Parts: sequence; C-alpha cells; structure tokens
Amino acid sequence: MEGILDQPVLVLNRLWQAVNTCSVRRAFALLYQGHAQVVSTDDSNNYLTHDFTSWRDFSRANPEPEMVHTISVSIRVPRIIVLLLFERLPKKEVKFTRHNVFERDRNTCQYCGRIFERQELNLDHVLPRDRGGQTTWENIVCSCIPCNTKKGNRLPHEAGLQLIRKPRRPKWRPFVNISFSRSHHDSWKHFLDLAYWNVELGQ
Ligand SMILES: [Zn+2]
Repeated sequence: MEGILDQPVLVLNRLWQAVNTCSVRRAFALLYQGHAQVVSTDDSNNYLTHDFTSWRDFSRANPEPEMVHTISVSIRVPRIIVLLLFERLPKKEVKFTRHNVFERDRNTCQYCGRIFERQELNLDHVLPRDRGGQTTWENIVCSCIPCNTKKGNRLPHEAGLQLIRKPRRPKWRPFVNISFSRSHHDSWKHFLDLAYWNVELGQ
C-alpha cells in the first residue's frame, strides 16, 4: 500500500470543470474538512457525490482491492473530487509559451479562423513590434502563413483582416498541458475532454 496516498486525484471546481490534480492525502483532508466531495459513478454511469460519511458507507458496501485502512475504517481511494468552495487550491499562472498560445488559440488562425498543423502557424504580433507592440498574451495570436504574409507590418484592419477573438491571458493553465507522471484513470476522461473544449480563455 506504500504510496497510495500520493496517487493523483482529479479536482473539479464547483462548475464540475477539471482544474487540477491533488494527492489522495490532500483529497481526504478536503473531504474530511467538508471542502470537497467524492465523485463516483453508479452502474448506469450517473454521477454520485459523497461526503466523508457517505463515502465511508459506500466503501463499506462496495469494497475494492485498493483501499486506505486506518484503525477504525477502511475507505476507498477517491479518483475524482469536486470542490464545494471556489479557489481552495492555489491558482497557477498560465506560462506564456509558444505551446500555450497554440493551446489557447486551439491551432486556429485568429484571422481566417481555419485550423492548421502547428508547423503551418506563426505567432503574430497584432500591433507590430516596430510600432511598439509587445510580446504578451494580449498582443500575440496564432496566424497562418498566408494571413501573416498578407498582414505584414500592419494592424489587422489596415490589411483588411479582423481578429476572430480578442487575445487574452487564459485564466487557468490549459489542463491538457499538465503532464501526468502516472497514468490516470478512465473515470477522468469525460472531464478532461470537457476541460479541453471548455477551458475559459481570458475570463
Ligand atoms: Zn489565416
């Protein structure tokens, strides 16, 4: 059982969006303090939530091989928890990297709206550098090579182009960028897929 308390648990916020992972140890602390509930599925794939007591009772009724044992109780390892309060976990700033700009813009040229392979996309300064444009979340967008060439050293409207969306700093680290040292659970997939499509950019 060594290490079981260090296994990762997927953390959902109050809106059931995947925002982070934490250790089983931390998940139990949040559960015990009433700051989070365990998310599980029933036989019909409906989601159930449990507070500490109901999770303990559920564990007793539905034991599985991997359990955490204390003197008084054997309890199942949570795989997903949902926070009952906002912002119980420290926010991580999204790093301003080429990769994360591609993630934010979802490999979509922000001028023509088409999706490209990354090697076919440039990072474009909306306000050109030689006119004082800075290399920031708010001034860098993905652009395909034809749009980039058309735009040249001009502002979008000067080149007859229009941004499909105002570039902003994403609020959350795009979840798909978190690399997991250990393989994660099938039960996470639904929430990770949702997270990919629903990352709130620039909220
Ligand atoms: Zn384009």
